[in-house]
Amino acid sequence: MTEKVECVVIGAGVVGLAIARRLALEGREVVILEAETAFGTHASSRNSEVIHAGIYYPTGSLKARLCVAGRQALYRYCAEHEIAHRRIGKVIVACDATELAGLRRYREQGALNGVDDLRELAADELAALEPELRCVAGFLSPSTGIIDSHGLMLACLGDAQRHGAALALASPVCAGRVGAGDITLEVGGAGAMTIACRIAVNAAGLRAQEVARSLAGLGREAVPPTHYAIGHYYTLAGPCPFRRLVYPVARQDWLGVHVTIDLDGRARFGPDFNWIDRIDYRFDAARESAFYDSIRRYYPGLRDGALRPGYTGIRPKIHGPGEPVPDFVIQGPRDHGVPGLVNLFGIESPGLTSSLAIADHVAGLVQ
Ligand SMILES: Cc1cc2nc3c(=O)[nH]c(=O)nc-3n(C[C@H](O)[C@H](O)[C@H](O)COP(=O)(O)OP(=O)(O)OC[C@H]3O[C@@H](n4cnc5c(N)ncnc54)[C@H](O)[C@@H]3O)c2cc1C
Repeated sequence: MTEKVECVVIGAGVVGLAIARRLALEGREVVILEAETAFGTHASSRNSEVIHAGIYYPTGSLKARLCVAGRQALYRYCAEHEIAHRRIGKVIVACDATELAGLRRYREQGALNGVDDLRELAADELAALEPELRCVAGFLSPSTGIIDSHGLMLACLGDAQRHGAALALASPVCAGRVGAGDITLEVGGAGAMTIACRIAVNAAGLRAQEVARSLAGLGREAVPPTHYAIGHYYTLAGPCPFRRLVYPVARQDWLGVHVTIDLDGRARFGPDFNWIDRIDYRFDAARESAFYDSIRRYYPGLRDGALRPGYTGIRPKIHGPGEPVPDFVIQGPRDHGVPGLVNLFGIESPGLTSSLAIADHVAGLVQ
């Protein structure tokens, strides 16, 4: 038997839940299909939980626009829904003279992206703000913050459910068919069934390409390649030596081993960056000495033995080693020709910050 529903959202990470909420608030009938037995167990719960200001991304890119709009929407939403968060601020620092040009580029890029509150810090000011920090220059981003990502997902899910949405756990989308006017999805798991819908949003994160490739009738050329990069986090034993987040100038295509602070005030360092070929969250303890070296560049007071293994997260990449970092890819009917279908690919950082703005963007594509 085939069940009929207006909208299906595939994936209950923060992005899928924000989209489901948005569509349900419009009065649409929404079912969220999640492969795992709980929501938010992948990227959405294995990240830095930072509300990014929107500094790093190319002007006019989806990452820049959705991060700035998403950050503003997120602070409002957190306040309205009492989601734990703190506008804690961050300092971005050059550890030596070779990084000064990078620091300047960030400031210019931030200004181009509409991040208008960045403030250059003199050396004595930096020393007063963060006495444990060693660097040659830096600036402050006061609108960077931290958030309880689980609380955000719960709030989105609650809003969606209050507006009639249903969440089906342990319900992986295994295959499907798309055509003019209707979309059919084959759902596996204990309650295997076929669902026909008018709108389907593929927010399957690390598996979004796999889901898209399983849809008969969708051109394969629309689907980007799949790559994964793992990042490790270490926590710091003892009190946090910093009052704000600390980000060194990035050296490659990620933001570097930075300091984030959780809502309980504990410091954690990470993530590092390593290409992997499958989804495997195992923690590789051999990373430790590289972490000590990276962190001591800006925090020389780090004691031997103070780092504790934390957790890992995997970035859903759509580019491979050495290739330029692409934008978020959000494909609607105009891109692939299938009415009602939206695919989201490569929703890595700043996807958490951008989630509410991504939801608005997706709602616009399916109007
Ligand atoms: C190490 C790391 C650090 C990050 N730090 C930050 C940060 O500080 N700030 C920030 O803004 N962003 C950050 N991000 C990015 C952010 O975490 C992600 O952009 C965001 O969580 C993506 O959410 P999502 O819902 O797209 O994906 P996910 O959370 O991965 O959710 C996808 C869901 O789809 C489900 N699924 C998969 N296949 C199927 C299927 N066939 N059928 C049904 N369901 C399926 C999965 O089980 C999963 O629950 C970070 C990411 C990583 C990896």
